[in-house]
Amino acid sequence: MKQILWFRRDLRITDSALLAHATGEVLPIFIFDEHILKNLPKEDKRVTFIYESVLALKKQLQTLGLDLAIFYGKPEDIFSKLVQQGFDEVLCSIDYDAYAIQRDKTIESILPMHRFLDSFILDPKEHFKKDGTPYKVFTPFYNALEPLHSALKLEEYQYSNACIKASFDYDNTPLLEELGFVKTTLPAFLYQSAHELLEAFSLKIALYEKERDFFHIDATSKLSVHLRFGLISPKEVFNYVKTLAPTSGAACFIKELFWREFYNYILYHFPYSEFENFNGQILKWPNSDQAYEKWCNAQTGVPIVDAAMRCLNETGCMHNRLRMIVASFATKNLLIPWKRCEAYFALKLLDYEACSNVGSWQWAASTGADSVPYFRLFNPYLQSKKFDKEGQFIKHYLPELQECDAKLFHIENGLKQNLFLEYPPLLIGIAYSRERALQFYKRVNTTKP
Ligand SMILES: Cc1cc2nc3c(=O)[nH]c(=O)nc-3n(C[C@H](O)[C@H](O)[C@H](O)COP(=O)(O)OP(=O)(O)OC[C@H]3O[C@@H](n4cnc5c(N)ncnc54)[C@H](O)[C@@H]3O)c2cc1C
Repeated sequence: MKQILWFRRDLRITDSALLAHATGEVLPIFIFDEHILKNLPKEDKRVTFIYESVLALKKQLQTLGLDLAIFYGKPEDIFSKLVQQGFDEVLCSIDYDAYAIQRDKTIESILPMHRFLDSFILDPKEHFKKDGTPYKVFTPFYNALEPLHSALKLEEYQYSNACIKASFDYDNTPLLEELGFVKTTLPAFLYQSAHELLEAFSLKIALYEKERDFFHIDATSKLSVHLRFGLISPKEVFNYVKTLAPTSGAACFIKELFWREFYNYILYHFPYSEFENFNGQILKWPNSDQAYEKWCNAQTGVPIVDAAMRCLNETGCMHNRLRMIVASFATKNLLIPWKRCEAYFALKLLDYEACSNVGSWQWAASTGADSVPYFRLFNPYLQSKKFDKEGQFIKHYLPELQECDAKLFHIENGLKQNLFLEYPPLLIGIAYSRERALQFYKRVNTTKP
């Protein structure tokens, strides 16, 4: 038996389904996929992060007596060559986004594939309502998983130890520059391992429920990027948290982990929702080109929205509460189609994950599974007053507002009082755009097809 272990979004050797099922001669590989990379800017921070993580995985595999062959190209071309070297099958982890499904279909026509679920805790195929249909609402979905999330430990995969390294030229690692990218500086927390982040989080977890919405406090785990690329598995995170004192913070955190499961579940059962409104509504969005440009470029004139967008553009990160604020502002106040904004996040977010991004954008736009009701809009000024009262976050990302009285950040047109300030005028009035959004959404919500 000769197997290819295709690492993709599971860049680790612990709790690894691939290593647990590895038998005989194995060739662990990673492919820098030309189809994906060709669409990314050469400064893409994710590529730097993945590149470093893949090199680290190579070292980890070497400690097991294995290695990692690293390729750059189109997966179908690479597998067409590998099949000629007598490999029998490919082991990899499951991915449910549209591109991944299509890619795997192509590879399966070249070599048999065995896919394992190790990027998520729950197998979406094994959880249904009593009537046999998939859940569409988070709370019943989560409550019905009680035995799972109240468990003290979930079983992790163990290395099979039943394989040997296939002979291969493992030294041909392409340079980052050869992939067409430059090395970028990452946010500091990305130079920490997942386990270091978990340990740091263990000291904060008791206050997680209380503090997680305050974006100037370092209150969340910051694990989403590591989870996205599988440097740690969600089961490992779960098991670690279960070793800590059971607090309301810990329970709240476990629930958040299951939002990720929920969105993966929704994408699996309703794959069309990656591109279309989950609820089937047809919304006739007005032209929003100008608003979209200003939203992306942090020029809306709403300090909290602009600070959040500048944070995204500069760092590739955005706190969850800020994501909710800018998403509500974009899809409701500015009436920008959610898919357009979702694509912008996909381009920028270091933790971009199709299921969570699509699910969350549809949530904000009131078109998704278990969405915010269409008539509920975040008032960005009330949000900044509540969560950034002193304006620390706003001043950090909008240093041109450094000298301003923070109270002015929380009042519509507050900054207009300062005639010498170089800050864009408010793009749209909050009361007017709120009313416009209500009328827009009301039309589809009150007209039954
Ligand atoms: C518009 C919008 C887009 C989003 N896009 C993404 C995305 O592309 N990728 C992504 O991982 N998360 C996304 N989220 C969810 C959430 O913002 C991030 O998971 C979170 O901010 C990551 O920070 P953390 O790891 O410190 O989170 P913590 O608060 O420490 O949470 C722990 C983990 O739980 C999961 N999680 C937490 N909240 C959510 C949530 N609402 N939905 C799904 N999973 C969650 C994440 O894996 C996270 O790492 C999005 C939210 C919104 C509102």
